[in-house]
Amino acid sequence: MIKGPHTSNVAKSATFQLLRRSLCQSMQRSCTCFAALVLALRRRTTEFRQVLAHRGMMKVCIHRGTQEVGGTCIEIESQGKRIALDVGLPLEAADSIEYLPRVHGFRERDDSLLAVVISHPHLDHYGLARHLVPGTQMIMGAATERILKTATIFTRTGIEFGNVLHLDPRKPLSIGPFTITPYLNDHSAYDAYALLVSADQQRLFYSGDFRGHGRKAALFERFLKHPPSDVAVLVMEGTTIGRSGSDAKFMTEQELEKCFLEHVGGSRGMVLVWTSGQNIDRLVTIFKACQRSGRQLVLDMYTAEILRVTGNSRLPQADWNGVRVFLPDSQRRQIIKNQQFALADRYRPFRIFPKQLASEAARSVMLFRPSMVRDLEKAECLQEARLIYSLWPGYLKRAEHRSFHAWLDKRGIPLVQCHTSGHASPQDLQRFAKAIAPKMLVPIHSFETKRFKEYFDNVQMKKDGQWWEVWHA
Ligand SMILES: [Zn+2]
Ligand SMILES: [Zn+2]
Repeated sequence: MIKGPHTSNVAKSATFQLLRRSLCQSMQRSCTCFAALVLALRRRTTEFRQVLAHRGMMKVCIHRGTQEVGGTCIEIESQGKRIALDVGLPLEAADSIEYLPRVHGFRERDDSLLAVVISHPHLDHYGLARHLVPGTQMIMGAATERILKTATIFTRTGIEFGNVLHLDPRKPLSIGPFTITPYLNDHSAYDAYALLVSADQQRLFYSGDFRGHGRKAALFERFLKHPPSDVAVLVMEGTTIGRSGSDAKFMTEQELEKCFLEHVGGSRGMVLVWTSGQNIDRLVTIFKACQRSGRQLVLDMYTAEILRVTGNSRLPQADWNGVRVFLPDSQRRQIIKNQQFALADRYRPFRIFPKQLASEAARSVMLFRPSMVRDLEKAECLQEARLIYSLWPGYLKRAEHRSFHAWLDKRGIPLVQCHTSGHASPQDLQRFAKAIAPKMLVPIHSFETKRFKEYFDNVQMKKDGQWWEVWHA
């Protein structure tokens, strides 16, 4: 059959219909696929949103410290769980529960508060911890726990904790959604840490208290070479910001040793040194100056015990040559009251007794505090004595020391100062912030937080009690 035009048109039309139907079916199928895809995507987005809502951003609230040195307390929240970093006593406050920040779980049990971390054993970082509800999970260095427990025997500032996990330098510790990585700090307190807190891929670095000119200066320099990466927020102390004289180079502990040596060498009688029994760096500095000057170091029993419980046998100990232990009356009373006779027995072979002090004065450097005045008067060992003051000079000006100054005058005991700060100089703070290079730097532990912008990039001031979010780095 010869195909006419009509036949051809009909065939074309049938083919077209067939094609159209096939195309429509295919499009329908595609549409169905597309709709399914959109639906699946929508479902995924909703799930993702739900996950995000559940996870939340890491949130932070500095309860105290954005305007002052002391009383540091930082609360961090993630996935509905919380930790607190430090629970310090404000500098001028009484040790009272009324100063304890309003954190859920501080005064009453709250399972969403997973732990309270103590960065180091200084009162302005742990001082209110005694008011926490019993059984609170505490986290701190093992030596910090022992130092604070030992302090309970001799002073009111000690605390014994019941439920403690230990920080180990650079070893991550997981608690709920948080991973806490401690970095050992160069500071005037022993066993002091900076803390890297990670949760939900967000990283916050809390500097704790630190310096770069102490006996662990090498540690600080190593940190600057290998800082933690991808830090979104650096919460950094700035004690020395705006302090007069802080633009000058800070004296190192090694330089301070020379200062001690000079004053010890220039003395004919007993050299008294008023310092903190817990400033381990300073005790090493004093011991080294003693060795170089050929004098023995007389520790009080409390300080001898603090040195022992550090667990660090490289630090001066009571049984070392050139070290003796004196028991002041106030400490003797505490030992009797707390029935710590085994502790006193431990030091029996290394004791120096009051009646020996006068004859050994010219070859001794003795740790001192004003509560020992009567002991020394009784021992009649102050002929040509000299006092080296080795604490923050501000304490000395306080009204409570007026009668002590009068006693020094009456006795004709000259007071000289050998001291260097436990906190980083503004230059070292700048090096620290530059090494970490955070997206945001939040000032803390300073009376001059407003001036941080003069020294650092990306500064964001926060207020005490204000909640804010940590964004991804
Ligand atoms: Zn502090
Ligand atoms: Zn400190």
